[in-house]
Amino acid sequence: MSETPTRMTRQRSILLEVLRESHAHPTADELHSKVREKLPNVSLATVYRNLELLTNQGEIRTIELPGMPRRYDGDTYPHYHLHCVECGRIVDIDHRVLPDMGTLLKKTGRFEVLRMRLELEGICEDCRK
Ligand SMILES: [Zn+2]
Ligand SMILES: [Zn+2]
Repeated sequence: MSETPTRMTRQRSILLEVLRESHAHPTADELHSKVREKLPNVSLATVYRNLELLTNQGEIRTIELPGMPRRYDGDTYPHYHLHCVECGRIVDIDHRVLPDMGTLLKKTGRFEVLRMRLELEGICEDCRK
């Protein structure tokens, strides 16, 4: 294939659109079935390849937690996650709840923060009922 890395294919832009609409931090499998509603012939391998490209281009983020399939996040604005250890859901934490640690670290000097990952583990409201 002679595809240039920066060219946004239709498959990739639909994938990005689907991911940005979702706030559930879906897996590649979940994204695949969503994308197939719009592009019935798209393969899981293509979805994986495009997810990798989008990650490398900084368009999306990945969330990796031990023992769980990799999840994807269309929101690249720095934010933190709450992970429910009962049902596995990952929800965004309102950025106003926690201090912006990137800025805090910058204020200490010396260290340039490139990216930050913070996942808090707990039990969600539904699972506590
Ligand atoms: Zn839960
Ligand atoms: Zn998120």
